[in-house]
Amino acid sequence: MKVLVINCGSSSIKYKFFKMPEEHLLSKGIIERIGEAGSNIKDHYTGLRIILSNIKEVEAIGHRVVHGGEEFKDPVLINEGVIKKIRQYCAIAPLHNPANLEGILACKRLLPNIKQVAVFDTAFHQTLPEYAYIYGLPYGYYKKYRIRKYGFHGISHEYVANEASRLLKEPLRKLRIITCHLGNGCSITAVHKGKSIDTSMGFTPLEGLVMGTRCGDIDPALVSYLMDKEKLNTREIDDILNKRSGLKGISGISNDMRVLERKASEGSKRARLAIEIFVYRIKKYISAYTGIMGGLDALVFTAGIGENQTRIRKIICKDLFTYLKKKPKVLVIPTNEELLIAQKSYRLIKKD
Ligand code: ADP
Repeated sequence: MKVLVINCGSSSIKYKFFKMPEEHLLSKGIIERIGEAGSNIKDHYTGLRIILSNIKEVEAIGHRVVHGGEEFKDPVLINEGVIKKIRQYCAIAPLHNPANLEGILACKRLLPNIKQVAVFDTAFHQTLPEYAYIYGLPYGYYKKYRIRKYGFHGISHEYVANEASRLLKEPLRKLRIITCHLGNGCSITAVHKGKSIDTSMGFTPLEGLVMGTRCGDIDPALVSYLMDKEKLNTREIDDILNKRSGLKGISGISNDMRVLERKASEGSKRARLAIEIFVYRIKKYISAYTGIMGGLDALVFTAGIGENQTRIRKIICKDLFTYLKKKPKVLVIPTNEELLIAQKSYRLIKKD
């Protein structure tokens, strides 16, 4: 079965085309600058039409969908009901779900007879226990607005946890794993017996680690304090926390770790500080998750920084596990979210 995997962002479409179950990659590509000034690709429909004009014999389509709320714990075949739900979740994932939905609707128009599957970035974290996903807020807000920790990057965390089990030749049910997805967005997950039991991102991807441009954990009282002092509206404060903070905000230089490493080695104090804060926060999360799992069998690094930046991995691991009797294996595993989407889509359609 030939499965096309689509990952629609707000201004881009990434795709990979697989022959399953052999997992043979037939082609891949990216279309960028969709809808931007000067671009001749005005929307996702146009972008997908271009992609599909180069790809023949699509038998199934798998979509990455960022937010599946509490409804979607597993991949689903897309029908009108599913589309309605994904549309509803646009309210809590306004930066991601609308683009995912555009991709689904465009594929429906272009290939109306081909089955489509939605694989959700939140689904892997739906196994979190209640005490890990309920915030210390009035409980009524959970009931009224479904405010809770959802967690993201689930497809990547699940993929690398599976790979860790394969590489270690141990079944997931016997493993305590911490997966660190360190890219521009960063998150970390405790995977106990194959299940996500805690993860650093929250109701939105803003919580947790210090990221390229996102602040991660801060005192929530700072939001109203800053709004007051700087006379900011909600959109402006959101912009500061999501786009002007993190490595970029602290260093005042860049959100790109490669640039910061170079600047730090040339003597920039703020670049060095940004890296120190980034690493320190990761160490805190790893220590906390090791604690709740009562030990650790494997620590996995993935995504841009996790896969490529040896020095950062080294300073994260330095003195981290001195108190453990048995040291965990440290693994670097390139993530492949598209492959997991293809595997899940293939299995679901075959069963169907
Ligand atoms: P995204 O979350 O946007 O997919 P990436 O996973 O590509 O981002 O991660 C971006 C980060 O990874 C940047 O901080 C960059 O410095 C780092 N990075 C990406 N590729 C490399 C590389 N080949 N060598 C070193 N660092 C890299």
